[in-house]
Amino acid sequence: MYFDAHCHLHELDEEEMKELRGYVIAAVSDDVESSKKTLKLAQKLKNVVPCFGVHPWVVDKASMSCMREIEVLVSSSEICCLGEVGLDKKFVPQTFSKQVKFFEGFAKMAVEYGVPLNVHAAGAWREVYEVLLKSDVEKALLHWYTGPLDLLEELTAKGYFISINPAMELQRKHMVIAMEVNLRRVLVESDGPYEYRGLRLTPKLIPKTLETLAKARGLRVEELRSIVESNFREFFGFTRRVF
Ligand SMILES: [Zn+2]
Repeated sequence: MYFDAHCHLHELDEEEMKELRGYVIAAVSDDVESSKKTLKLAQKLKNVVPCFGVHPWVVDKASMSCMREIEVLVSSSEICCLGEVGLDKKFVPQTFSKQVKFFEGFAKMAVEYGVPLNVHAAGAWREVYEVLLKSDVEKALLHWYTGPLDLLEELTAKGYFISINPAMELQRKHMVIAMEVNLRRVLVESDGPYEYRGLRLTPKLIPKTLETLAKARGLRVEELRSIVESNFREFFGFTRRVF
């Protein structure tokens, strides 16, 4: 069994979806509409943890009433998380102040409902961390972490997680993170179906990513797979549901 901590499942094509037997997927959404799609997928497929949210890339098109719609989905789901939510100063710095309003709202919601946050923090790693601390968020995953190493230490010591993406083979700064991070705080993700430097990311790349990471860290693949599995179960807290 493989565990993908961050995948835009609602965007995968039919063929890719059929190939996901043997995978447990934390399926993130980008807005209210895709959150509803994700919920439908999770009702149909047992191996999906639905995550609802408004991506920082699209907050400019969203109104604060979206938060209430997302809250309805969260309050009616037994197991779920909030995501993809967060802050981004790298690709959409122009909407930063609106992003902060949304992200603070989602952080508050996470605390209120006791659900984890699946977070995007490109170019805003420290800012995201500060909102998490200020809001007393207990569980957060900073996906595809490429932030500073000192912050990595700090946030994993606080109990927050990061995820490693198949792009580690192509992106040096991500490989450096993979080499350094405390393995008790690591998840693995695809961020599918995003494309990175010509590489189409899909959950199917997870086994290869585990191999690369295991090799880099001097572990057997099965050893690492089992660490990642127990981290995933702890993070998403699905003891009541058997995968
Ligand atoms: Zn994503």
